[in-house]
Amino acid sequence: MNDVRRGRELQMEKKISVDELKKENSILIPMSQGEEVLWINQKKTSFVECEKEWELNRDDIDDAAKRLERFAPLIEACFPETQKDHGMIESPLEEIHKMKTYIKEHYNSNFMGRLFLKEDSHLPIAGSVKARGGIYEVLKYTEDLAVAHGVLKPTDSYEILLEPEKKMFFQNYKIQVGSTGNLGLSIGIISAVLGYQVIVHMSADARQWKKDLLRSYGVNVREYAGDYSEAVKKGRALSDQDPKSYFVDDENSKNLFLGYAVAGQRLEKQLEKRNIHIDEEHPLFVYLPCGVGGAPGGISFGLKQIYGDYVHCFFAEPVQAPCMLLGMVTGKNHQICVQDIGLTGKTSADGLAVGRPSAFVGKMMNHSLSGEFTVKDEKLYEYLHVLMEQEGIFLEPSACAGFSGPIRMQNDERMNQYLKENHLESKMKQAVHVVWATGGSLVPDEEREKYFQKSL
Ligand SMILES: *Cc1c(COP(=O)(O)O)cnc(C)c1O
Repeated sequence: MNDVRRGRELQMEKKISVDELKKENSILIPMSQGEEVLWINQKKTSFVECEKEWELNRDDIDDAAKRLERFAPLIEACFPETQKDHGMIESPLEEIHKMKTYIKEHYNSNFMGRLFLKEDSHLPIAGSVKARGGIYEVLKYTEDLAVAHGVLKPTDSYEILLEPEKKMFFQNYKIQVGSTGNLGLSIGIISAVLGYQVIVHMSADARQWKKDLLRSYGVNVREYAGDYSEAVKKGRALSDQDPKSYFVDDENSKNLFLGYAVAGQRLEKQLEKRNIHIDEEHPLFVYLPCGVGGAPGGISFGLKQIYGDYVHCFFAEPVQAPCMLLGMVTGKNHQICVQDIGLTGKTSADGLAVGRPSAFVGKMMNHSLSGEFTVKDEKLYEYLHVLMEQEGIFLEPSACAGFSGPIRMQNDERMNQYLKENHLESKMKQAVHVVWATGGSLVPDEEREKYFQKSL
């Protein structure tokens, strides 16, 4: 075949015919109209099968957990709010009885079992789930760099990295990241505290207060008119020109993913403390807000390593930015974006305003994810309001997406089918449900007030 023809054929293959895709996957029709959907992953297999194809395993997570332990004294010294957990960056798990009752009464749900909120909204340092992956990634880079240059010996106490001459060393290096807001906060704060030069490339969705907070740490914040993918592209290009610059790649980073995955063993400890054991008779359902996929993907991966087939992970995305769902349904992963099916990618859930998913996460979740929900923005405000009213807990809109899970649990034909196929119907009374609350504690009061006004 001559080159011209081959080139043209490749182009044809790449060109996405939306009509074809809709014929193959009828769920794309309501999705492209911005309607809420519930999708069950028909490609899900057993944990044992998944393990065979995953390129990461439990040892990788243990390695990440140990690294976080080595850094704990440093974290404790820099961030007083971590003292009670001795430098461990962890959030509370809270049972939300009133919310459960409210869901049953107001959403006409047959919802059964216990309902918990995993409050990553209250993670120290960055006030969002990004305090897991983002901070871990910077610590991993720091350890590698410092050991390679003889600034740190593996046997040292890592607090020595806070000494002025060590900080001078890090001042020669630059960390860069593209962000819709929260990733920038977590990377920016930890990097600035360690002494690095930091540039955060912010997408148009990013809130002003997040930019202001970063600047107060001495972070260089650059703003872009485009969306998240564009901020990433610009940031990466700039970083690639500079040999002493490290770009945190939210879309493909295995380190970021492993930082999130540590959450699995942490949640296990919190459940055990309450005498809750997850097993065949006591299934665990987890509902995770999803943007590019790293956070919910990493956490699901970590939970799967602990609970295998007894944990059922569902992602939640905004109706206008369901990038992971689109990538998984079509099998095109990052080769398709929400704009391709006529969606805007715009949402008040700024942490989830991502048009194109991570290819790496799509691959990891292909056979392990149970399903996905999409949610309208007005529902996010509604959940934000109800949670405040019932439990006195504030979350940012993105972080409320997970509530669509319990609300539609046992309340939707496809969900009931899933429960039936997985022999779960008779076990739902003993089920444990965890809504993963991904951000909100750093949101300033006047911003909270604006969110409430919108929810009225
Ligand atoms: C980033 C973020 C998410 C989703 O994480 P991804 O890794 O982008 O999928 C969810 N909620 C909040 C508040 C976030 O900031």
